[in-house]
Amino acid sequence: MDRRITKEELKIAVTEAYKQFKENNEGKNANYIPYLASVDSDLFGIAVCLPGGETITVGDCNYRFGIESISKVATALLVLKDYGPETIMDMIGADATGMPFNSVLAILLENEHPSTPLVNAGAISAVSMVRPVGNSRGKWESILNNINELCGCKVELIDELYKSESTSNHNNRAIAWLLKGYERIYDDPEISLDLYTRQCSLGVTAKELSIMAATIACGGYNPVTKRKVFPPLLTEKITSMIATVGMYEYTGDWMFKCGLPAKSGVGGGIMGVLPGIFGIAAFAPPIDKAGNSVKSQLALRYIMEQLRLNIFNGKRIVVVE
Ligand code: GLU
Repeated sequence: MDRRITKEELKIAVTEAYKQFKENNEGKNANYIPYLASVDSDLFGIAVCLPGGETITVGDCNYRFGIESISKVATALLVLKDYGPETIMDMIGADATGMPFNSVLAILLENEHPSTPLVNAGAISAVSMVRPVGNSRGKWESILNNINELCGCKVELIDELYKSESTSNHNNRAIAWLLKGYERIYDDPEISLDLYTRQCSLGVTAKELSIMAATIACGGYNPVTKRKVFPPLLTEKITSMIATVGMYEYTGDWMFKCGLPAKSGVGGGIMGVLPGIFGIAAFAPPIDKAGNSVKSQLALRYIMEQLRLNIFNGKRIVVVE
């Protein structure tokens, strides 16, 4: 049986979540990338994008912050589209490592068995597969066009963040070269590392992320631009990856608590996908030990619980006028 939620109820839940958690001061900005440490810790916004293209926004939804790990979702979709799910399973895989996003140990343990494109190792592999292989400028265009199509806008690099990440990404450089040793990188490791760093340094707003989430929720159809960005089958593929590893090593706890497939980034953004229902995003810089924004988690969980949206509850939810 369908359960109906009105847009008004949704708006009230989003506004209430904002009010309830606005003053929360747990967590700390990521500081291993200097730029992120300097972002205003009080910024907070929540955005929802519906299949009809309407958006509901509360708080700082037009502030451009570092997309970071959420860019992994976009590039995973790009290679899924270009190579097909079977090839991605062979060349990267779809298994959660259960370890931190930047784990070198996970690569050593799983050298025979590639893991998901949603952690650093798999993401650098995915970037290495982006076409045209060997052509850094052409690859960047592909990555950027794809993110623009998903978000329905022109996303821009935050230069200062890119510089900051490029001078502090030693761990990722180690990952790229280790992958090369295991033949899990399919282009030049330095080009792949640089493009990965660049895609993480793109600036997005919570509103734009909610549009990307809605595009995934709507089977690859961007509800704002009305353009088809990827084939419908990829929604279930990418959402399954998001659901198993999107909140780093806390993903199981997160899914157990609120049943929202979500991908977070250390810049403070979290993007949630409810297939067929809507896309949602929240942004607040202070993060927990795993890298998930504290306030964004509280807000998304509140909305999920208030409206009983958990994807495992067996109800088909429809948002109506
Ligand atoms: N650019 C960051 C890194 O590679 C992304 C981390 C994240 O958001 O999970 O460390």
